[in-house]
Amino acid sequence: ALSIQGELNNTKAILEAAGIRISVSGEPQKLGAPPLVQNILGLCLREAINNVVKHSGADTCSILLGEDTHKITLTVTDNGTGAELGRPEGVSSGRGLLGMKERLELIQGTLIYSSIPGKGTTLSVKVPKVVK
Ligand code: ATP
Ligand code: MG
Repeated sequence: ALSIQGELNNTKAILEAAGIRISVSGEPQKLGAPPLVQNILGLCLREAINNVVKHSGADTCSILLGEDTHKITLTVTDNGTGAELGRPEGVSSGRGLLGMKERLELIQGTLIYSSIPGKGTTLSVKVPKVVK
């Protein structure tokens, strides 16, 4: 099964191959999350990294994993070109972000996409540790 730790290892390999520096903070091996949550977080990380490689032109990407009592937050930031969704240059027929949102809704998770043209993009995903 997909785990956040496992996907992080793929991420490192993919970004290194693409020549993008990566920094990771947080302790994925300590995150207490059930398999469904791990799986969805792993998919979100995979799609976020696909987007960084495909669209951003960034040379640096940072991944932050945080948690509090009830929630886990995954934040992926790049220093690339940025693309604001809803703007002509950002509109796409892509399914990646939509698919992420749909999966997150299954577990009452949320997604925030924020992009500044010329400065980069941040994608932040928040999920509850316990799924009802
Ligand atoms: P798909 O994911 O279906 O292969 P896609 O990647 O184009 O296609 P989304 O993942 O939904 O679709 O992303 C929508 C659009 O948002 C992208 O086409 C791109 O314009 C923009 N985008 C997303 N992430 C980034 C990023 N890290 N840097 C710059 N632009 C981005
Ligand atoms: Mg995509």
